Amino acid sequence: MTILGVIGGGQLGRMLALAAAPLGVRCRVLEPGANPPAAPVAEVIGADYDDPDGLARLAHGAAAVTFEFENVPAAAVDGLARLTPVFPGALALATAQDRVMEKALFRQLGIAIPPMRAVEDQGELTSALEAIGLPAVLKTRRLGYDGKGQAVLRSLEDVEPAWRAIGAAPAISEAFVEFQRELSILSVRGRDGATVFYPLVENHHHDGILRHSIAPAPNLTIALQQQAEAIAQRVLDALDYVGVLAIELFQVGDTLLANEMAPRVHNSGHWTIEGATTSQFENHVRAVLGLPLGATDCQRPTAMINLIGALPSIDRLLAIPGAHVHVYGKAPRLGRKLGHVTLCGDSYGDLQTKCARVQTVIADQVELNAGAHQGA
Ligand code: AMP
Repeated sequence: MTILGVIGGGQLGRMLALAAAPLGVRCRVLEPGANPPAAPVAEVIGADYDDPDGLARLAHGAAAVTFEFENVPAAAVDGLARLTPVFPGALALATAQDRVMEKALFRQLGIAIPPMRAVEDQGELTSALEAIGLPAVLKTRRLGYDGKGQAVLRSLEDVEPAWRAIGAAPAISEAFVEFQRELSILSVRGRDGATVFYPLVENHHHDGILRHSIAPAPNLTIALQQQAEAIAQRVLDALDYVGVLAIELFQVGDTLLANEMAPRVHNSGHWTIEGATTSQFENHVRAVLGLPLGATDCQRPTAMINLIGALPSIDRLLAIPGAHVHVYGKAPRLGRKLGHVTLCGDSYGDLQTKCARVQTVIADQVELNAGAHQGA
């Protein structure tokens, strides 16, 4: 049996393991947390991500090692790479871990980005705002996710509180973009350099967290898809990338600006499990193991809705015809992704009707929780 090592045993590790099994591949995950989402479907090594013994056990007999989150310690990857092939490689990981390196790469490749400056202290933030204007977004260089480590500045008076809010850490200051919509392009590059792309996805965020995605993005033109693919292709080739790469984009008029990239399977690609011929998870497994990549076409309009903070009634969700429910097995917590629902429609209108039914079940749960808090 082929073994694929995965650093991280969260929901992405779980979905990778589920996709790997039919290919005769068993995932082994390295995860320090108790009862991780991947536990029911993968072998778990319970150790810290940088524990040398844990890493050696992860690599032992594995055909390759990959990761399901980008904040893997670089030293861990360097050590692992001496034992077994690690994909995506150290350069992709280092670039995605640091917003300054990431934006520098986009710029160097001629990919449009919002005006931005690297800032090390409050003085530099003030100078950056004079150059890029207001409103602006301040983001920590490292370790930000789901809108954490970010603050919006509307006037120079926001400098001090914003700097404090992000923990006075090295950051970037970026112009606030009045985008039409947020999109993402999911691409896959194999060990042989072959690449495939999924259709652009339209993403809806609230409080910096992805709430739902629609694929293909409504009103998607060939020109827009080609623009996104050209962006992804340049990044894939520059990093000699292997695996799934997600790039988040802002659409401004007919132009795409790159926001950030994730060197891994991505929440905006969960729809591919039921909506595409080959899921992002299966394609990632294929890519890192050097297998041929699978077709990425999407047969019908598909939506993915995240279940965040609390789980609604699973019975009621399953009663919606065609609803595919994914529960990750995580304890409820404010803002935490606990699962998702995927729906396919005969048309975008049909999809909207089905999504409204899911949103009603979610809203009822929110109301129930609010009632419980009031009663407490
Ligand atoms: P990020 O962590 O960079 O993906 O940011 C999280 C979310 O914040 C994005 O998906 C956007 O909704 C919003 N956001 C980030 N950067 C900007 C920006 N420069 N202008 C407007 N909104 C932004």
